[in-house]
Amino acid sequence: TDRTLVLVKPDGVARGLVGEVVSRLEAKGLRLVAAELRTLTREVAEEHYGEHREKPFFGSLVEFITGGPLLALVVEGPRAVEAFRALAGATDPVKAAPGTIRGDFALEVQSNIVHGSDSAESAAREIGLFFPDLAA
Ligand code: ATP
Repeated sequence: TDRTLVLVKPDGVARGLVGEVVSRLEAKGLRLVAAELRTLTREVAEEHYGEHREKPFFGSLVEFITGGPLLALVVEGPRAVEAFRALAGATDPVKAAPGTIRGDFALEVQSNIVHGSDSAESAAREIGLFFPDLAA
C-alpha cells in the first residue's frame, strides 16, 4: 500500500469543507494515518512549493497557503497518490470534472481546496516535510 500527503488548503478549511473532503476519501477506501490542523510558516510553504519558485504566481501562492489554518493528512491505500488525485480533479477547478472535489466546490485555480502529492517521490518528500516522524 502507498501513502500520499493531502492538504485541505486554507480556503477549504475556511469554507467548512474538511468533513466533505475526509468523507470522500474515506468513502473511497483510503485510510487516515495522520491528521493535523496547522498554519504553515513561510519557510515550510516555500519548501513545499519549491518547484514553483520561479513561477509568477509563487508569491501569491505562498501568501494564500500561509493565510490561515490548513488540515494536513497522510492517507494510505492501494495507489493512494493516483487515487487521491482522481478524487481531487484537475488543478483548474473550472476544468475539473463535476463529481471531483475541485469540480464540485471551486472556481479559481489558486484556491482549489485540496492538494495531493503528484508522485511517490513527491509524497515521500512532502510527508517528510509535514510529518518528520512518519518519514520512511
Ligand atoms: P497541488 O500541488 O496543490 O495538488 P497541482 O499539482 O494540481 O496542485 P500544481 O501545478 O502543482 O497543481 O500547482 C500547485 C498549486 O499552485 C495549485 O494547486 C494552485 O493552488 C496553485 N496554482 C497553480 N497554477 C496557478 C496559477 N496559474 N495561478 C495561481 N495559482 C496557481
